[in-house]
Amino acid sequence: MSAPRDPDSPVAATATEDEVRFEASLRPETLDDYVGQDTVRDNLRVAIAAARARGDALDHVLLSGPPGLGKTSLAQILAREMGVQCRKTQGPAIERGGDLAALLSDLDRGDVLFIDEIHALPRKVEEILYPAMEDFELDLIVGQGPTARSMRLALKPFTLVGATTRAGMLNAPLRDRFGAAFRLEYYRVDQLARILSRSARILGVELDASGAGEIARRARGTPRIANRHLKWVRDFAQVHHPGRPVDAATAARALEQNRVDPAGLEPMDHAILLAVLDRFGGGPVGVESLAALLGEERETIEGVYEPFLVQSGYLERTPRGRVATELAWRHFGREVPVGSRQGRLL
Ligand code: ADP
Repeated sequence: MSAPRDPDSPVAATATEDEVRFEASLRPETLDDYVGQDTVRDNLRVAIAAARARGDALDHVLLSGPPGLGKTSLAQILAREMGVQCRKTQGPAIERGGDLAALLSDLDRGDVLFIDEIHALPRKVEEILYPAMEDFELDLIVGQGPTARSMRLALKPFTLVGATTRAGMLNAPLRDRFGAAFRLEYYRVDQLARILSRSARILGVELDASGAGEIARRARGTPRIANRHLKWVRDFAQVHHPGRPVDAATAARALEQNRVDPAGLEPMDHAILLAVLDRFGGGPVGVESLAALLGEERETIEGVYEPFLVQSGYLERTPRGRVATELAWRHFGREVPVGSRQGRLL
């Protein structure tokens, strides 16, 4: 039975081996399985058909958006639909130009190279990527000092799929070299419910429509979180209600026990909002002060927690800092101060 998630890292970016395997088993395999993100899917469908008809590699694609929205899944689907291999790596893992050169020269014609967190590529590595993306060429410096010479190496045409949670941190020259750039959006509750029904089928869990809806409402618009909730709910139901389909009441009880509230907010969201409300009188407060107070990395607050709190209307980003909305005051049963920003539900 899986333990409740670490209350301090409800949407942890680092996954355990178990979680990686669990996720892999639920990954959609084709564009048809991939729920939502309709514009992205439609555009990619056209791009794939056109590239296949010409016998070309697919254009380089940049995918941005918060963690767990399906960037990796989409890269794998692209490779699969093109009938090529997908090699995966992460920006910070490519420390030297040689690492990237090795990766690139190992690719077969048309292969997909998926670089997650591409905004974190070291600058030197990024420069090697430019001619590779543009002309499928590698410029290498061989040797050192006076005997050093530059060498040009031809690569087989490939497709770079870059993913980032921080599109704003991407350098313009890199961004401009992608033929297409898409921003993934948070999913609607009905879309998450569809994803959950499919996942339940794969996991052999009997989940009724009310149960799927309840989990979906608490999943922060994010398929990864929906699937993780499902895993926990399955375990909970197996112990407390064996042999019965999972309904809304069971799902709600299971998630409450795991400290996920009815709006899908988890302990770190509560900590952030309560800090803004109680320690800073509703804001504005700078993200640095919040990070220091909560003992959390600024990047984690900005990249992981805040996007959902902003998107769902609990928090607003203003030039002077973060401000809690009326919705946030109400969520914690507080009196709403005069002049509060309204906020809106997702
Ligand atoms: P990201 O790379 O953006 O962090 P992933 O592609 O790893 O996200 O997705 C996390 C999990 O969520 C996957 O294992 C997959 O099961 C599920 N998922 C993501 N997007 C979709 C989707 N559009 N349809 C169905 N399942 C999805």
